[in-house]
Amino acid sequence: MDLLVNTIKIPIEKDGMDEYVRAVAQTTGIPPEKFSIIKILGKALDLRRQEQFYYRLSLVINTDECFFNSETCVPYTEAVVDTRKQLTKIKARPVIVGFGPAGMFAALELIDHGLEPLIFERGKGIEDRSVDVERFMNERELNPESNIQFGEGGAGSYSDGKLFSRRDNNSSTVNRVLKTFVKFGAPPEIEYISKPHLGTDVLCKIVRNIRLYILERGGDIHYSSKMTDIIVEDGAARGIVINEEQEVLASTIFVALGHSARDTVEMMCSRGVAMEQRKISVGMRIEHPVEVINRMRYGSKYDGFPGLGAASYSLNYTNRRVRRGVYTFCMCPGGEVVNASSSNGMLVVNGMSYSDRASPFSNGALVVSCHATDYGDDGPLAGFTFQQDIEQKAFLAGGADWSVPAQNLMNFLGEKGGGHSTTTLVSKGLSLQKWDISSRNLYALSFF
Ligand SMILES: Cc1cc2nc3c(=O)[nH]c(=O)nc-3n(C[C@H](O)[C@H](O)[C@H](O)COP(=O)(O)OP(=O)(O)OC[C@H]3O[C@@H](n4cnc5c(N)ncnc54)[C@H](O)[C@@H]3O)c2cc1C
Repeated sequence: MDLLVNTIKIPIEKDGMDEYVRAVAQTTGIPPEKFSIIKILGKALDLRRQEQFYYRLSLVINTDECFFNSETCVPYTEAVVDTRKQLTKIKARPVIVGFGPAGMFAALELIDHGLEPLIFERGKGIEDRSVDVERFMNERELNPESNIQFGEGGAGSYSDGKLFSRRDNNSSTVNRVLKTFVKFGAPPEIEYISKPHLGTDVLCKIVRNIRLYILERGGDIHYSSKMTDIIVEDGAARGIVINEEQEVLASTIFVALGHSARDTVEMMCSRGVAMEQRKISVGMRIEHPVEVINRMRYGSKYDGFPGLGAASYSLNYTNRRVRRGVYTFCMCPGGEVVNASSSNGMLVVNGMSYSDRASPFSNGALVVSCHATDYGDDGPLAGFTFQQDIEQKAFLAGGADWSVPAQNLMNFLGEKGGGHSTTTLVSKGLSLQKWDISSRNLYALSFF
């Protein structure tokens, strides 16, 4: 019989299987020789008490004895998701537009159901794309079709590779995604640690492995192949046009464009595809030395403790009167701020890291939620105009040569904060607790 044992607490100094067995025996009352640990379901670091950090674990054990106790352990069965029913209608070869995470997972699903997808990606394969990204970093020559946003693997290929969201909902679908990453080369522990992360280096390998798997199973991938039009007949899509010349007819088209293909979304909108406005947040990236965040989060006892790595944080504040939230997002411990632009004359940044998160800097986005009224228009694509306006201003603020505009945080607070002192901002919930901002002078600030 499999049993789920929840909330096992292990002091981080004692982390290891022997200690897990001891703690399970103590919590459940089952003698160690009568069970075996078959799976770790969750492992989270608990930093709430600075004098003692813990890992909180949930484990699945197997035992022949009937030691069921609803307070400490309950019967466990693994959830399985079956998507077969929705897909059985597809008979002809399906087309996928975009080969980012959404396009890749769509392709894997279709292959699982015996179909051979035809994939069109406007950017290049990951190896050639990496050359273009490198060139942009070093020579500031942007290829608008092959960059940090566009190309095989999509926008997240050169990323921190965080595999978690602000919502703690590891549903069976999320678990399936994590298992897929492991199948294609991710370290197995991503299936249970609370904030799994891959890093750009590992992600690029996974992308290559997924591509090979799809090709070996009859899928076709066309790079530098941008969908430039949709063929519409009787109010239904009958196919697509690639690079303004090649017509591809298809009865099933999966459009997986991501958030940056403004040109394609505009084309689709003009063709009558139903769209509605979505809320967005805008902001900037704040960069700080790793040791500042580590000291703040780990304190002196655990700063540098093996296995803890670069620390993360999150903050949020809601001003209910104006109905706006300010929050940190996509924090990259031990990472770097990258120029993630994809359009000429428009600048946008994001955060990325490698799997070891060993950079001496950490950064996080600090964003504010926007309302439709900020856009000055209520059309479905009004947010694009708003976004492009900010990106153009960021480009000009950086000197129009792809430099990222950056500023010391204290200057920013003084100049843009309307004369707010740091203490005023702290009282408004905008500052990090225990963090003496005034003693630092190393923060760089840039647009996100
Ligand atoms: C630098 C960076 C770091 C990030 N870090 C993280 C992170 O750590 N964790 C996280 O969860 N998210 C992260 N994100 C966000 C994440 O990348 C996106 O949520 C995710 O990539 C969305 O997947 P997608 O497949 O929907 O779209 P995308 O990844 O944007 O993929 C869309 C693909 O479609 C292609 N395409 C677009 N238009 C066309 C067309 N007309 N014809 C053919 N192909 C087209 C594009 O080239 C692209 O390859 C990061 C993003 C960036 C830019």
